[in-house]
Amino acid sequence: MKNEDEKTTKINFIKTIIEEDIKTNKHNGRIHTRFPPEPNGYLHIGHAKSICLNFGIAKEYNGLCNIRFDDTNPGKEEVEYVDSIKEDVKWLGFDWNDRLFYASDYFEKIYEYAVDLIKIGLAYIDDLSPEDIRNYRGTLTEPGRKSPYRDRSIEENLKLFKQMRAGDFPDGSKTLRAKIDMTSSNLNMRDPVMYRILHREHHETGNNWCIYPMYDFTHCLSDSIEGITHSLCTLEFEDHRPLYDWFLDKLNIYHPQQIEFARLNITYTVLSKRKLLNLVEKGYVSGWDDPRMPTISGLRRKGYPPKAIRDFIDNIGIAKSNSIVDVEYLEHFVRENLNRIAPRVMGVLNPLKVVITNYPEDKEEKMESLNNPEDPNAGTRMVPFSRELYIEREDFMEEPVKKFYRLAPGREVRFRYAYFIKCTNIVKDDNGNITEIHCTYDPETRGGNAPDGRRSKATLHWVSIRHAVKATVRLYDHLFIKKNPDEVDEGQDLTANLNPDSLKTLNDCFIEPSIKSATPGNIYQFERLGYFCVDTRNSKEGNLVFNRTATLRDTWLKIKKKLDFF
Ligand code: ATP
Ligand code: MG
Repeated sequence: MKNEDEKTTKINFIKTIIEEDIKTNKHNGRIHTRFPPEPNGYLHIGHAKSICLNFGIAKEYNGLCNIRFDDTNPGKEEVEYVDSIKEDVKWLGFDWNDRLFYASDYFEKIYEYAVDLIKIGLAYIDDLSPEDIRNYRGTLTEPGRKSPYRDRSIEENLKLFKQMRAGDFPDGSKTLRAKIDMTSSNLNMRDPVMYRILHREHHETGNNWCIYPMYDFTHCLSDSIEGITHSLCTLEFEDHRPLYDWFLDKLNIYHPQQIEFARLNITYTVLSKRKLLNLVEKGYVSGWDDPRMPTISGLRRKGYPPKAIRDFIDNIGIAKSNSIVDVEYLEHFVRENLNRIAPRVMGVLNPLKVVITNYPEDKEEKMESLNNPEDPNAGTRMVPFSRELYIEREDFMEEPVKKFYRLAPGREVRFRYAYFIKCTNIVKDDNGNITEIHCTYDPETRGGNAPDGRRSKATLHWVSIRHAVKATVRLYDHLFIKKNPDEVDEGQDLTANLNPDSLKTLNDCFIEPSIKSATPGNIYQFERLGYFCVDTRNSKEGNLVFNRTATLRDTWLKIKKKLDFF
């Protein structure tokens, strides 16, 4: 039954199938999905699509969703990855309750299933080396060849398999293979390997095993054991489905329904754990949670709210064919979410000193400022104003170009929540660089409004130098310069497409004093500049570090306009 309390996400072809299955009482009306990560890296936003889909469907249709670690690769997998995956799924807003499983929980059962297949003559021990197995496999245009060991007797196979488990053979010397069809047009059906020998410790099962089941054999059995009704996976598994069907049918056990959907791809980034691991290991980024990474932990550290990611996933939809989504679309949902929840503050990233020459030295005032104009309940705060202030260097031009309406010699502008300010003089050093500018203020314009109704074409943000909090701000840009980073010249790899300007660190930024209470993870809108998140790793009391989450300009809206036009 559909859970009417749950906010319904958009309909998609998978939900259509599920609603039909509920109507016809298939699986006795049960809905049970799972998210099956391999713990060999941190989750990325592509995984978020799978998480939102699997957990979302369970939530919406009063079903259940398991998390299951597909841990068939000892050595490549680590506890660190398991912990990070759990944290990321929770942070995204989903809960598996008591249904956290490991494929390794089923190793004994999977072993028994393998024995069953040997007993009915559908699996055999092969002595071919891994290299020979590859050579015998054939290609898309050539059929494979049968292994000389294919016709071993059932008894011999059972005995050898037992010995494999007992540790009698070295790594790579034998495998267990399914006996299917070496001439099948589907390469997955050409006697795939079910078990290999690996004398290696496993993070869950320790040294209990020296043979490990292959992913394809394990995955479909794990789904079956858990009673998964709808096994949702990405398109590359479409060709594996006949193999899964074969295993389940031959073993005559519960058969989940597999449905494939398209992977998420995003411009200017790569979504592959292997490629991301390479960036981490070679030091191109500071770690899996570097805010430039498309990992969930990177996006979290950058300041992306989980709801923005869920909204994005919901809006891109679920399709049957691969496509690439503009990264600007993701950023659009980040802005949309933050606009409502991020408190505003004033901060200057690239400071230029302003002296208000007619403002008394020792005077200071507190200017009432809105915490969030989008939220009537957000209230106000008092921001100190004094004779010496910082403004943004880009907000002043000695010789203003056309359409530059901000501060310039002789010109008057509004300082937000404060006064109308007029530039009277420029001070330069011996090299001709501007070191400070002198201005006067109009005391009649307190709060930023002129009683005579005169207007200003620009409103600038500012920070009182005496009260300012110094901070470090990191500006992030796309990690890659190409929309498709995998597009490289011959002999190059994707690191050739890394953006050399993906990180700029500004050490002399000044923020209004209310920021003193900021704690790691807090997100603010710096007026006119963008959204900034207090870094969770490097920020300390007295030494604030901010990561830019997003600029204020929504480039997606521009792209969308173009799309609507065509
Ligand atoms: P990667 O290529 O990044 O290693 P993977 O598919 O090998 O990804 P798994 O840990 O096996 O990673 O994935 C767990 C689940 O997440 C799988 O069901 C997989 O289909 C899904 N998934 C992985 N990448 C994406 C993606 N880009 N879009 C949608 N779903 C994805
Ligand atoms: Mg995988």
